[in-house]
Amino acid sequence: MSLFQHNGKHLLVVNNEYTNRKIIYAGSEGKPANADDIRKGKAAHGVSVVEVMERNGQWEVVKDSAYNRRITADSPMEITGPARGHDFLKTKADPKGTESLGTWNNCGNGRTPWGTYLACEENFNGYFSSSDENYELSNEQKRYGIGHKDWGYGWAAEDDRFDISKNPNEPNRAGYIVEIDPTDPSSTPKKRTALGRFKHENAELVLADNGHVVVYLGDDERGEFLYRFVSSKKYVAGGDNRDLLEDGTLYTAKFRENQRGEWIALTPETTGMKSKAEIAIYTRLAASAVGATTMDRPEWVAAHPAKAEVYCALTNNKNRGVKPNKGGDATPVGGPNPREKNLFGQIVRWRPTGGDHTSAEFAWDLFAMAGNPALYDDMRKGSDNITTENMFNSPDGLAFSPNGLLWIQTDGNYSNANDFEGQGNNQMLCADPETGEIKRFLVGPKECEVTGITWSADRKTMFVGIQHPGERGGSHFPEGGDAAPRSCVIAIKKSDGGELV
Ligand code: CA
Ligand code: CA
Ligand code: CA
Repeated sequence: MSLFQHNGKHLLVVNNEYTNRKIIYAGSEGKPANADDIRKGKAAHGVSVVEVMERNGQWEVVKDSAYNRRITADSPMEITGPARGHDFLKTKADPKGTESLGTWNNCGNGRTPWGTYLACEENFNGYFSSSDENYELSNEQKRYGIGHKDWGYGWAAEDDRFDISKNPNEPNRAGYIVEIDPTDPSSTPKKRTALGRFKHENAELVLADNGHVVVYLGDDERGEFLYRFVSSKKYVAGGDNRDLLEDGTLYTAKFRENQRGEWIALTPETTGMKSKAEIAIYTRLAASAVGATTMDRPEWVAAHPAKAEVYCALTNNKNRGVKPNKGGDATPVGGPNPREKNLFGQIVRWRPTGGDHTSAEFAWDLFAMAGNPALYDDMRKGSDNITTENMFNSPDGLAFSPNGLLWIQTDGNYSNANDFEGQGNNQMLCADPETGEIKRFLVGPKECEVTGITWSADRKTMFVGIQHPGERGGSHFPEGGDAAPRSCVIAIKKSDGGELV
């Protein structure tokens, strides 16, 4: 989520990543019973724009705001960038390959200096299925996890777009960064294919000193890669920057054992692929072709607000050192992924050479290795800044506040048992990037993940997302009693009302 200021209004933009089907289809086994249920499920996905206002120290929704908007799995989108109009994006409904319907499974996000929101399409594959059980999957579909069965959403039963035997190109129209103008409810969201197609986590945008826009991007899947986009054109203060994400070069990261690394451009020359369009659509295959480093599930990337230093949460990877990724790339133990069957996750950081975000090289180290120092003396105890007071697993959300503190949100094992004993529910921690000190800031309700963070312009309120509390029936957060648990946004202020971030 992000909070925008516009004409004195506060516009909160929030991803609605997925549904807990046993909750929205209460009384069922988590399966939609009819077409109306499926339409309800599709409408519950996407992005919400909500005007909020503070009254007497309490934030509330402005219910009749003209800015309020729902973008769902059926909202018209424009396809932009190198893949626009490519044959792989053409369908019966859209023979030009230039417009698609909807966005779904938006995980993390980003925001731009020109006032737009970036929603990141992650597990888009889980919504496709095949009515023809003999439909032969392509290698590209397999690499992206497209299969004959969906994950239980059942959308193909109501909408042929999600039946790959009838519309094999439809999955190629998802897996992108979607740019949304929250200030114009009539605007058409734009799929920015120049930023590649994979299971996007977030999109951390920085302006390089030379004026190019740099976006750091993670692909949240075991053994997949870390990416960087550099715009072709430069940002001009006060100018028309609206289409800077339309064209640029994608790079993928190669980490060396000597704590150096490099960004490798994904071009027809380096990858052997036919065109920029193919690289934009089958980005994972392009990064495999150049030998990028297979990572322990890159989740959010966060850039320091005051210096050229970037952090990425590598959440966990039970396959590290055990088996290759879906493309057959090896996942050796080492570099920024130093633990076999990585249970706890780590945070890697890098400094671009010369402080230049467009530089081809960087130096890296591990900022934190999560672990359980109460149980283990080996690498599973974590790095020196992990203690029995702050231990956690599966760092996921990661963001810098304006005051230069790093916030870490977890989406991990909340059993509080076995390897995770003493770690409790998912939580949010605060880290000092200078000293490495990490402190627990809040603990979420049972069975939630803590994800999404933004703050008011006066820095006095922090907004935090609490997703899927009670996903296994163990919580009625936030209303309590017998109420169904609900994902929600909480607002946090200091007791004295002063600046928090
Ligand atoms: Ca994720
Ligand atoms: Ca995540
Ligand atoms: Ca996660």
